Amino acid sequence: MVGFSLMNQDLRYVAINETLAEINGRSVAEHYGKTLQEVLPSLAPVVVPVYRRVFETLQPISNIEVTGEVPSRPNELRHWMVSYVPVQTADQQIYAGSIVVEITEQKRLITELEHLNRNLHRSNQDLEQFARTASHDMQEPLRTISSYAQLLEHRYGAVLENRGQRYLKHILTSAQRSQQLIRDLLTYARLDSKGMVLVPVDLNQLLADTLGLFQDTIRRTDAQITADTLPTVMADRGQLSQVLQNLLGNALKFRELETIPRIHVSAVQQPECWQISVQDNGIGIDPRYSDRIFSVFQRLHLPEEFEGTGIGLSICQKIVEQHNGKIWVESALNQGSTFYFTLPIHPSSASPG
Ligand code: ADP
Repeated sequence: MVGFSLMNQDLRYVAINETLAEINGRSVAEHYGKTLQEVLPSLAPVVVPVYRRVFETLQPISNIEVTGEVPSRPNELRHWMVSYVPVQTADQQIYAGSIVVEITEQKRLITELEHLNRNLHRSNQDLEQFARTASHDMQEPLRTISSYAQLLEHRYGAVLENRGQRYLKHILTSAQRSQQLIRDLLTYARLDSKGMVLVPVDLNQLLADTLGLFQDTIRRTDAQITADTLPTVMADRGQLSQVLQNLLGNALKFRELETIPRIHVSAVQQPECWQISVQDNGIGIDPRYSDRIFSVFQRLHLPEEFEGTGIGLSICQKIVEQHNGKIWVESALNQGSTFYFTLPIHPSSASPG
């Protein structure tokens, strides 16, 4: 709702619409001939100088934020966005019109959002700090368990009967798995947008480099990996490399043993972003779980079936979102999976971690 009024040079109301009259707590008729001081005593000190300037300069003054109380709602601070315009009539009289939009609710929402945002930022920082400290402190005792279990195996393994050796193996594998979980959690907690450096990254080159890391697996499984001509994108090279490593690693890993992995990487240009996809012919994912797999430690398989800690996709999601992109999967059981992620073509700025 827009309020409107017209003042003469004595700052008396010559016209006003219903909306503004209601805000001022009087009928339209009650305004005629009254001065600004009479109608809005508490706002007059702020508004009168603005009117005077309009009459002096005959220039409009746009979008001034006015804050104060009005007679219709005493003791309540309210906010308006007001523009003032000089108006000349046919008989050469000069008036000043005001156009008033109430923004009290918007201001309240913005303040609330800022408050929520600050709280969210703080609790994110607390959580990251907690994850860092907890995982750092847990590494030490785990290292001790692991190395003493190794010592036991080395020195006394021969004198232990079968069951004892089995128990020891369990201790060792569990300790190693916990160490791996903690290392992954640390990697996740340390990923933060502040350290990001956006540079042009040639995805063809990055893909070739990343595939180099999987040379052994590719040779062992006869994997066939193909790719479209890929674009150069603006990204943090190290982080983008982690995304490709995780997606390609999963594409090679989650397959039936006898299946020869066939993986295709492609890129499609959208109006605002590049959409990159990694398609595989593996075991696929039940669509019911296509959101859950991006959460920390969420896996659909036991470590005995497919090794891993369940953090790779969470890392991918954090990195892609830090780049202001999105990541998702399209898949069905036994139908292979296609993971998609987007990267803005012209990144303005990274989002706060
Ligand atoms: P990890 O690979 O360590 O298990 P991720 O976070 O990378 O952890 O993946 C989470 C889960 O999502 C995996 O355990 C698996 O169940 C499923 N998943 C991920 N990628 C694929 C894929 N290409 N094909 C089938 N399932 C997948």
